[in-house]
Amino acid sequence: MIRQLEEFLYPQSLAEAVQKKHEYGEAAAPIAGGTEIVPNLPPEIRCLIDLTRLGLDYIEDEAECLRIGATTTMHQLAVSPAVAKLASGVLSSSSCQGWPTEVRNTATLGGNLVGGGPFADSPPALLALDAEVVVARLGGEERVPIQDFFVDYRRTAVGQGILKEIQIPRPAAAARGVFLKFGRSPVDQALVNLAVTMEMDNGLCSKVRIALGAIGRTPQRILEAERALLEKPLESDVIDNVVSIVTELVDPVLDLRASADYRRELAGVLTRRALLQIAS
Ligand SMILES: Cc1cc2nc3c(=O)[nH]c(=O)nc-3n(C[C@H](O)[C@H](O)[C@H](O)COP(=O)(O)OP(=O)(O)OC[C@H]3O[C@@H](n4cnc5c(N)ncnc54)[C@H](O)[C@@H]3O)c2cc1C
Repeated sequence: MIRQLEEFLYPQSLAEAVQKKHEYGEAAAPIAGGTEIVPNLPPEIRCLIDLTRLGLDYIEDEAECLRIGATTTMHQLAVSPAVAKLASGVLSSSSCQGWPTEVRNTATLGGNLVGGGPFADSPPALLALDAEVVVARLGGEERVPIQDFFVDYRRTAVGQGILKEIQIPRPAAAARGVFLKFGRSPVDQALVNLAVTMEMDNGLCSKVRIALGAIGRTPQRILEAERALLEKPLESDVIDNVVSIVTELVDPVLDLRASADYRRELAGVLTRRALLQIAS
């Protein structure tokens, strides 16, 4: 499979990587950790552009936001104290739950977002944290809200650009969050994954985000379920209502791992668990 490759490029700067991607077009693909693209190399790819020498493996803790370079590995995220501070460590949990250690040490956040598909673990956490991504293009940089990034099945707004960094606005210190994942085995990909974040204001929910993965062609927020929690206490009748909204609205697909009905049921179960965890 790798025999189809004619060139492996090592650009020394992001600008050079962007230029090379533009020059080679559809015949070239960026490679970061390689855990996704190496086993699934598309037939048209003749050239890989290595991104690991561009200095994009950073986590910068700034006053307004956390900036995470695209080639930061899942392991770096999982052990970062700055990432752990964001909404009870929702992104940290998504970077280590169920990941085989060898993969976690190599796989990057950028690769998980661009290539990970609907079951990838970091997208629900980043959706729940209102992240933005920065894409480097020939004409300059473009900022894309994470909600607009996942366009269709394994298709993102990165297009012919290179994902440079992910920016996460700093949530309130009291913001709570939970990431949950359910797979057939502890190291299998998620049958469903979910991230919930919220703040509590005098016992009432505010700034609610509920995002799920593996329940459709792209990871997505369930806006109606979020609205059903706003200004409500986290009590059992409210939670029952949110669970029924989630199970009604998700539109999972059947694959070799699970039926659509099983995934729908699981989406409700994980939502209930996450809300009970936050309530406690
Ligand atoms: C055994 C195994 C277990 C796994 N377990 C999990 C798991 O538990 N959870 C999970 O979510 N995933 C899991 N994965 C999937 C995979 O490891 C992740 O999606 C990983 O994060 C991809 O990152 P990477 O750096 O290896 O990407 P690569 O394989 O290098 O690239 C993936 C895709 O993204 C593109 N790309 C990468 N970086 C950029 C960039 N900066 N700009 C533009 N395009 C870019 C590439 O061109 C390619 O199309 C697993 C994979 C394996 C093989």
